[in-house]
Amino acid sequence: MASLDRLVSWIHKEHCKFRLSDNVVKDIEDMVVNLVRVLLPELLRHYPGCRYSVAEVIDAGSYFEQTKIELPNEFDFMLVVEQLSSEEAITVMKGCREGYARVGVINPELWDRATADDGPERRFELALLQFNMYVRETLKLALTEPLTGRFGQLSMKDITVRGKPYKAFSHVQTLTLIWNSFTPGKPGHSRKTPSTNMEVLYQRENSQEGLEICVDLMSCCYLPLSAFGNILPEKSLENQFLEKNGCHIVLKSCESGGCKENDRQCRLISYTKTEQECMKKINVRWKVVYKVLKWMFHYTGVLEVDTYKVKTAVLYCSSNSGPDSVISLDDGLLKVLEVLRNSAYSQKLPGYFNSSLNIWTVSPCYQYLVKYEMIFLLKVFNQIRSMATEDDHAGLRQNIKIVNLWLNRFCSHTAEISQMTRGRSSRLQAFNWQGNVFLEIMKGMEPALKSHNSLAWIPFQMKCYVLLDVFKVLSSIFFEKIANLWHPRL
Ligand SMILES: [Zn+2]
Repeated sequence: MASLDRLVSWIHKEHCKFRLSDNVVKDIEDMVVNLVRVLLPELLRHYPGCRYSVAEVIDAGSYFEQTKIELPNEFDFMLVVEQLSSEEAITVMKGCREGYARVGVINPELWDRATADDGPERRFELALLQFNMYVRETLKLALTEPLTGRFGQLSMKDITVRGKPYKAFSHVQTLTLIWNSFTPGKPGHSRKTPSTNMEVLYQRENSQEGLEICVDLMSCCYLPLSAFGNILPEKSLENQFLEKNGCHIVLKSCESGGCKENDRQCRLISYTKTEQECMKKINVRWKVVYKVLKWMFHYTGVLEVDTYKVKTAVLYCSSNSGPDSVISLDDGLLKVLEVLRNSAYSQKLPGYFNSSLNIWTVSPCYQYLVKYEMIFLLKVFNQIRSMATEDDHAGLRQNIKIVNLWLNRFCSHTAEISQMTRGRSSRLQAFNWQGNVFLEIMKGMEPALKSHNSLAWIPFQMKCYVLLDVFKVLSSIFFEKIANLWHPRL
């Protein structure tokens, strides 16, 4: 097995599997799924005064894609509201931004909270908020007693509407459950802590008693793809998977000033159902690559390279390589990193199901750091791939050490990095901060990289990248100043 393949499999084996035994994980899943798929719709149907019902429960999020790492502590679902899911019930129009639509309720009599003054768009919002309220009440009823499984029980901690504190409503409701095993204190969890002798700053605690499990519920409505004729780009309208599943609309609003002023909000179009299907279908090696990158970027998360960006890159790579082609782990990892590096350069990553959306939302205070991160990782992994391929345990240990050191060095600068967004600074200042932090991180890694034959040149190469940007930033500022001198009014 080639060096990089071995490194990727090792990270996956040590860090990306659940830290609970498979039986316990399945037990928790069964309880949560039964609660949301069976109990909730059933109780809603009989809830006094509730005129809504659930047309479909859609699995969303990483757990159901089999790409969740570390703990089964997050389950995401979308609840499709039956009464709002047809072209007779709602209308959609183009929103103020790509990927958003204005949604109005056609038959307002259904919704008792709305008043005569409310427009169709406000009524849509009220209807979903009211549905959410019934969901919360129903779940509280369902969970007056804990749910009991084979290995433990789930009790309710709370159910909240997630959002910024000053916001009255948000589009996601989170049910927080606490899991306790029937045999507390006993290590019924078969998986051991990662067994490297290396100093790992960022290792999390291993005790899973009182594990908090978040169940995110997002209410939505469904419409067939044909309803989005002049809203989505042509490429999306031709997508056969979207054609089959249609699209969903969630409460998440456009937040644009113009819309707020006119007392309306556009709502986000969701492709989650189709995305889930695609992720479930991709080759298992792509999932391994995805999980490994997710684990790595999790520690450098302040840089805003979230899992959605990584997932989008994985979807592009897997569709480019064809559905049946078998990739190796090292090729897969490098391909995904290349897509991310290109995005870091161009500041663009088109949405997989809606290419008119740019999901590369890295703020300027991190853009250079993210770019250096991608270049650096690509260099390291490319070098590791070209190393000798004999079954060399010492080689693997050395490579693990490099990855750990990178995360370790990075984490020790996290506080500083997260300060960067505070306050407005000039372009030059923003660049200086990022360049300096990156050089600091490199300095901490230099001895280890230099002791490694094929990685010895990387610190020097990285310094060259930073230096090149120094010239680019300075010269662009210089030319702007000159232009201002000549045309002061422009
Ligand atoms: Zn809008």
